[in-house]
Amino acid sequence: MTDHPVLIAGGGIGGLATALTLHQIGVPCVVFEAVREMRPLGVGINLQPNAVRELYDLGIGAEALDRIGVPAKEWALVGLNGREIYAEPRGLDAGYHWPQYAVHRGQFHMALYRQVIERIGPQAIRLGCRVTGYRKNSDGSVSALIEHADGTTSDARGSLLVAADGIHSAIRAQMHPNQPPIHWGGALMWRGTTWAKPIRTGSSFIGLGTHRHRMVIYPISHPDPVTGLALINWIAEVTLDSAEGWQQTGWFRQVPTADFAHHFADWKWDWLDVPALIAGADGAFENPMIDRDPVPSWADGPVALLGDAAHAMYPTGSNGASQAIVDARVLGAAMLQHGVTPAALAAYDAKLCGPISAVVLRNRGAGPFGLLAMVDERCGGRFENIDEVIPAQERAAFMAGYKAAAGFAVEQLNKAPATIPKGARVAKS
Ligand SMILES: Cc1cc2nc3c(=O)[nH]c(=O)nc-3n(C[C@H](O)[C@H](O)[C@H](O)COP(=O)(O)OP(=O)(O)OC[C@H]3O[C@@H](n4cnc5c(N)ncnc54)[C@H](O)[C@@H]3O)c2cc1C
Repeated sequence: MTDHPVLIAGGGIGGLATALTLHQIGVPCVVFEAVREMRPLGVGINLQPNAVRELYDLGIGAEALDRIGVPAKEWALVGLNGREIYAEPRGLDAGYHWPQYAVHRGQFHMALYRQVIERIGPQAIRLGCRVTGYRKNSDGSVSALIEHADGTTSDARGSLLVAADGIHSAIRAQMHPNQPPIHWGGALMWRGTTWAKPIRTGSSFIGLGTHRHRMVIYPISHPDPVTGLALINWIAEVTLDSAEGWQQTGWFRQVPTADFAHHFADWKWDWLDVPALIAGADGAFENPMIDRDPVPSWADGPVALLGDAAHAMYPTGSNGASQAIVDARVLGAAMLQHGVTPAALAAYDAKLCGPISAVVLRNRGAGPFGLLAMVDERCGGRFENIDEVIPAQERAAFMAGYKAAAGFAVEQLNKAPATIPKGARVAKS
């Protein structure tokens, strides 16, 4: 190991989870984040039990997560006729040793940020520092090339460089100069939040409609004890036939709900009123459902990709943020075994790149929402008795296959030893 700290490009969920993990195992690190000010951006995300386990091991427990989200109790798919296709318990109710949390992305991100400042210190995060590339040095160290908010540039030298700079990663572009442009399959999403009464179990994740025209709805707060209202996260999705357009509409553009509410105008049942839910929001964020084709490797000597920079994926499996956290922990475990060395990055790459790249492609094929596609193909989304469309056994087998591939099969996770044993520290060389 060189005497330099580990450099982390990007202070999103993956970058901050990496910083907290490295600090826990005694490895100095510095995060370079492009934005000048951290703000609580985004709406709902899910933290799967495999990621919640890692957060608990990082000392971010139920008390902290309950302030910014709510444990999920159920995952359900509902057809265009408002009838249930499939439902299963989630988190503790499903037998996991750890809950699944639905949280506000921005508040979760800020909670991680505060933890980094408290545990490592404010010098651990350099804001207004965009990493534009890297240089491998002859002494085995690596330099991150940095562009500051005022336009000036500088280099920072590190023992290793972890690229957690998101889907538009500059480091990935340098590592894989021939990677194809961002992939867009034609789906547009509008995301918003509305204060409303939670439905079904009170903490249910609901996928409603078909794979080309659907709503995803779940609460991201406990209900207010007086009003009974919770903050409900919703994602309205429509797949267009055109393969063009997302570049023109931009990424995470704020739009009025009238832009898309007409797609869901008649989605009303006695248990759910989608037009009212959409109308109750102040506005929505429009963004295209995009990902990237997998690359054959996430490591180049002293540099490794992590989080969306490694595996930007469709949100159909609700596992983008969870996987970024797991990446950070697997990287930490590799350093415990191999030291702060390129060999640790190679071990991390060998363990995750293949299987998680397969999850990226699986999510493209609708991920767990694939059941909605099957119902759509077989009966146009409308049915009397779901068992006549897809037998219960076939539905259960489909879901079990997805969970095993994404790393949150219940028995597999419960019996897996801690990724980072309690108190483990990287040996000083
Ligand atoms: C503003 C924002 C809002 C989001 N909202 C949602 C949401 O509502 N729902 C959802 O499912 N997912 C959302 N996501 C994506 C989700 O957070 C990620 O898919 C997931 O958490 C993986 O995290 P990540 O750390 O790999 O990437 P990200 O969370 O995207 O973080 C990447 C970080 O790197 C920084 N960065 C980018 N380029 C550079 C660079 N060259 N140098 C230095 N820093 C750089 C970015 O500012 C960002 O802080 C959002 C992401 C962002 C950035």
